[in-house]
This record gives sequence, structure tokens and C-alpha cells, in this order.
Amino acid sequence: MSKLIDGKAFADRLCATLAEEVVTLKKDNQLSPCIAVVLVGEDPASATYVGAKVKRCEQLGIDSRSHHLDVTTSEEELLSLIEQLNNDPEVHGILVQLPVPKQINGDAVINAINPDKDVDGFHISNAGALAVGQNNMVPCTPLGSLMLLQDELGDLSGMNAVVVGRSNIVGKPMAALLLQQSCTVTIAHSRTKDLPAVCREADILVAAVGIPHFIQADWVKPGATVIDVGINRIKDEATGKNRLVGDVDYSAAAEVAGAITPVPGGVGPMTIACLMYNTVAAAKNQAGIA
Ligand code: NDP
Repeated sequence: MSKLIDGKAFADRLCATLAEEVVTLKKDNQLSPCIAVVLVGEDPASATYVGAKVKRCEQLGIDSRSHHLDVTTSEEELLSLIEQLNNDPEVHGILVQLPVPKQINGDAVINAINPDKDVDGFHISNAGALAVGQNNMVPCTPLGSLMLLQDELGDLSGMNAVVVGRSNIVGKPMAALLLQQSCTVTIAHSRTKDLPAVCREADILVAAVGIPHFIQADWVKPGATVIDVGINRIKDEATGKNRLVGDVDYSAAAEVAGAITPVPGGVGPMTIACLMYNTVAAAKNQAGIA
């Protein structure tokens, strides 16, 4: 049985450190880190995510300003709000909860955010900065996954890393971060040939696919470290209730892996903790504090 990587405990430790830093910033620098969270429409999952983020802000003493816009909001109206937030010196981070309703071009909205306030790290210039190793705001889920890997393994240099998934928000930035750590990185996706064989080469296996229990135990190299990014809601046969599962067949893979993140309680809490981390970093950057 492998070691469980406790993302919730790590996230709690990171948030405790950030809370102390926020106290110091307020006291010594008269700087009160602040994030604006924008939600358009009534998608229940998005509302839950926003609620969790705002709650974490409260716990850390980070100011949060919620902007809940109607589902019929036009792109122009949303862009106008972004401009207002870009120009507000008291707002250090701007997060637009995705997805946005179909009349709005999500990419246009994200790219309208001042890159220094883009605490999700999705702006095209932040993606480019990451690709060339000049990291500014780094996407929260890959950043949190990297922190867990470094905590577990220390120096990652020379390890074979396989990232399954090539999305702009998880797979690609995860691969870029692992490459920066001098891993030998393979990015796998839906067209990859013989995916099980590719996965079996991985010392570090990151699953970001969006298919419940997709990665099988016999795809995992014995002793490998497995990071399960997936968050999938499935109906529990026994209880009839929805529950969250990852992209990895956890119980079977845990028999083979050296260490593995659970779902829930693995990468998920790290995503929110890294949003807090990015918000504090953005506030310090904008105030010229090293
Ligand atoms: P996307 O749907 O954007 O990307 C999924 C990726 O998986 C694509 O690159 C796709 O390949 C690849 N894929 C799909 N089917 C297969 C297959 N059969 N074999 C190999 N690769 C395949 O998802 P995201 O990256 O946004 O999210 C991935 C998962 O992570 C989801 O479960 C999501 O809920 C979760 N997530 C969790 C977060 C957290 O906080 N823990 C945050 C963000 C996401 P192709 O490009 O070829 O189509």
C-alpha cells in the first residue's frame, strides 16, 4: 500500500503561513491583499467553487469582493467590469470563474485582465512567461501539484514525468513546471498511442483527463508518485448519492504506486491554497514588496 499524499494538510499549512504573512503586510506595510471574484450566471458547481474561495479568503484575512452578474450579462458589460477592477489600486487579484455563459468569449475576458492581477494564471502573457521560464502568475492547480511533488520527492531533476492531458489550465502548465524542474516530460492526450505503456515509464504520473477512474493500476510503474488532478462526480451505486472521484482507479493504483493523492483531499485543496498564494504574491508585487 502506497503513501497517501495529504493535500488538505499541506494546503492548511500553506494557508496558515499565508495568514501570518497577511497579518504582517497589514501591520508593517499597510497592505491589505484583496481579490475580486467574478461569477456570471447560476451554475451550481461554479457557485460552490466561488463560495469555497471566498471562505478561504476570510480565513486568511484576505479581502474578497464578490461580483455576481446575471446570466444574460454581455461580453461588453463584463469587459467594462474587468477594466474597472484593473484600474482599482485596492484590488490586487481578479478571478473570473469559468465557464462563462456562451454569449461571452472566455479567452477575451481572461486576456483583458491585467496579467499582474491574473491570479488564476490563465492570461496568454502569463502562459508565455511560464513557457520561457519567466514565471509571473502560475496556474493554481499545476502549482499546487508541483508543491506536493517537491514535498514528497525533493529534487525532481532527471525523473521521467508523464502528464496525461494537455489543457491550457492544467496539462500544459504542469508539463512546463516539471520541465523547469529538469524532469524528462511526456505530454499524453487522446491521440497518444499505447497510453498504458507511456504511463508505465513514469516516475511521476499526473492525471488530468476528466474521466473517472481512467488510469488503471497496471499503467502505474511500481513505486511511482501519482498526482490525480481529476474531479469527477459519479453516482454511488450503494447510496444513490453523488460522490467525487479522480481520474485514477485509486484503490487499485494505491497498491502499486509509491505515493498517491486521494480525491477528494489531494490536489483540490491545493488549488484554492495556491489561489491565496498568488493573491498575496500579486499584492506584494504591486506594492513593490520583495
Ligand atoms: P480538459 O477537458 O480541458 O482536458 C482533458 C484532457 O484529457 C485533454 O487534453 C484530452 O486530450 C485528454 N483526454 C481525454 N480523453 C483522453 C483519453 N481517452 N486518453 C488520453 N487523454 C485523454 O480538462 P481539464 O484539464 O480542464 O481538467 C482535467 C480534470 O482535472 C477534470 O477532471 C477536471 O475536473 C479536473 N480539474 C481539477 C482541478 C482541481 O482543482 N483539482 C482544477 C482543474 C481541473 P485532447 O486534448 O486530445 O482532447
